Amino acid sequence: MKYRNILTVDLEDWFHVCGVSRYIPRESWDGLESRIVATTSRILDLLSRAKTLATFFVLGSVAEQYPTLVRGISDSGHEIASHGYAHRRVYTMTPDLFRDDLKRSADILAGITGKEIKGFRAPEWSIRDGSMWALDILQEEGFLYDSSMAPLHVIGNPQYPTRPWRHRLSKGEMWEIPPLVCDIRLINLPIGGGWGMRIFPYRLIRSAIIKNNRQGIPSVIFVHPREFDSNCPRVRLPLIKRFVLNASIVGTEKRFERLLDDFEFTTVANFIGL
Ligand SMILES: [Zn+2]
Repeated sequence: MKYRNILTVDLEDWFHVCGVSRYIPRESWDGLESRIVATTSRILDLLSRAKTLATFFVLGSVAEQYPTLVRGISDSGHEIASHGYAHRRVYTMTPDLFRDDLKRSADILAGITGKEIKGFRAPEWSIRDGSMWALDILQEEGFLYDSSMAPLHVIGNPQYPTRPWRHRLSKGEMWEIPPLVCDIRLINLPIGGGWGMRIFPYRLIRSAIIKNNRQGIPSVIFVHPREFDSNCPRVRLPLIKRFVLNASIVGTEKRFERLLDDFEFTTVANFIGL
């Protein structure tokens, strides 16, 4: 029997990476070779072959440059949500700056798709203990769910819930959609996407999803277009970032296809009934 899980894509280019401004300065972004159209098409092909819909958290600056790409994704039935405008971590912004960045992205995305933008995912899961103020701003700006809090060490907090849950905010409740993790000896492993999904044994991911589904809990998977691009330009980066970005990239596509084969996925909006 198949169960419904949630599939998400962070739609950004290969150089939209947090914490590497020394190596890929923001000012250089405009001059770098964009690879987003080709890599996203690859993902869209795989999704269409598997007859699967996903939520695309789209960076506003990318949508501004590639409106046709974003319109095409939306017209294919996928959900378009926001990944902010300028790819800044929430806790590096003031509340006012965050609100501006968020509204700018939502306006662009709604303009392109003609649809209401309901969800947000912060760059690098950056809504966490010091930046929870962002949740009220999301709600004030009309967002119905957030997917920015990772139940993981370093980039989040392992105490955060590992299944979809609702924040109680000043204006009512708002959904939080955390990425899939698996708990091994009290440590949550990041198996729902990124390097974790690429390098941990497939059977570990598969059994975590099955375990969740048996309890009626969806597993949330996330991917980035650059992970489907083994010819992605290589720039000098610290060892840890190189690992996070590049480890086992050649196997992403196969693993993604296998997940689509083994499980049923849908968008966040479909899953929570928006
Ligand atoms: Zn991102």
